[in-house]
Amino acid sequence: MQAVIMAGGKGTRLRSITNDDIPKPMAHIAGKPILHWQVECLRKNGITDIIMVIEHLGEKIETFFGNGSNFGVNITYYWEVQPLGTAGALYDLQNQIMDNYFLLVFGDVIFDIHLARMEQYHIAKAALGTLFVHPNSHPYDSDLVVTDDNEKIIRFDSKNNKRSYWYNNCVNAGFYILSKEICKLVKPGIKTDLEKDVLMPLVAQKQAVYAYASPEYIKDVGTPERISTASHEIENGYVAARNLTKKQKCIFIDRDGTLNQHKGLISHEDDFVLESSAIEAIKRINASGYLAIVITNQPVVARGLCDVLDIENIHNKMKTLLGREGVLLDDVLFCPHHPDKGYPEENPVYKVSCKCRKPQTGMIETCVEKFNIDITQSWIIGDTTIDIQTGKNAGLYTALVLTGEAGKDGKYEVKSDLVCGNILEAVEQILKIEEI
Ligand SMILES: [Zn+2]
Repeated sequence: MQAVIMAGGKGTRLRSITNDDIPKPMAHIAGKPILHWQVECLRKNGITDIIMVIEHLGEKIETFFGNGSNFGVNITYYWEVQPLGTAGALYDLQNQIMDNYFLLVFGDVIFDIHLARMEQYHIAKAALGTLFVHPNSHPYDSDLVVTDDNEKIIRFDSKNNKRSYWYNNCVNAGFYILSKEICKLVKPGIKTDLEKDVLMPLVAQKQAVYAYASPEYIKDVGTPERISTASHEIENGYVAARNLTKKQKCIFIDRDGTLNQHKGLISHEDDFVLESSAIEAIKRINASGYLAIVITNQPVVARGLCDVLDIENIHNKMKTLLGREGVLLDDVLFCPHHPDKGYPEENPVYKVSCKCRKPQTGMIETCVEKFNIDITQSWIIGDTTIDIQTGKNAGLYTALVLTGEAGKDGKYEVKSDLVCGNILEAVEQILKIEEI
């Protein structure tokens, strides 16, 4: 795969760092230009054929990298005569793209990503375009991507829209694998915005544009504050540790009675109320480097009390409420099934024995595969013996909380590694053990 890096852009917000003397992508971060970090990550992923699109002060980039041989890559340059936006150069580049698809990177992001996973995804989906998406800590002022349940993008929700609905924290990170076909859709010599002028029309035509979700590190570093944060995160090892070639540690979290108040079976969004310590608990997990993943049994679907879309709406409420406070969940999985048939209102499609209903470990196994999780360093927090039994079955450490059912459900004869007052206490204790 070849990579195209859009390395133009004046970077007015970075003037205090660039002094109008170097282009934005050459701003230093943890001792090296942003572009240098990008080239290193691409090379690590076996991507050695790089096209840099340059304009303002582009000669500084050419002087630094030359033909790339000192950096173990081959770099060619495309000079924009006038600024062509985030996609305008693609028309002219189509003859230089050798494969059916290529990677498109903006020059002001720091990333450390296992690209082969994203490439396999792009191939498996037979996608025209694949967008790297992730939950971020400020979804309320971010452009969101809305997908169907097959991860196909059905619309973009601009940060300028007024959102009067619960939304999924799914943000476009500005990192793409694009089919070469897409270059042909760009008009020559005209300033073109990739999202607005190219991707939005494709999505409106229901073309195969997909959202690849990953918890790996990718952040726009277009302001001095963000540069400072990212420098710190590179230096303390956080950026490299998130790469999915490395084993991840995870805290799996039960939903009802653990993250939100126990109110019996919840089939309507109004009944979803966060536990008072939930936001602070997830905030600590986010800062720790552990993944935070909710796994929950929701037999309400099988019992016919609501449908899968209602569950997703409830989960969007959960993500919206958390997102407003700057905290995020790396994933949310639920089992809609129930094995016992014979109730009047039941939905027979979901009345099956499955591998995902806790205490079975199907949801955990899905996450282990998806996020390269090391079970032996991971935890489950829950309020029932079912959660603790799930943890034992999967080989996780277990923490029972005394909110919700407080372990009094009596389903399994099982003892947890920790017993804690609530989810925040559980997270605090887990992180304390981690320090030892
Ligand atoms: Zn299931």
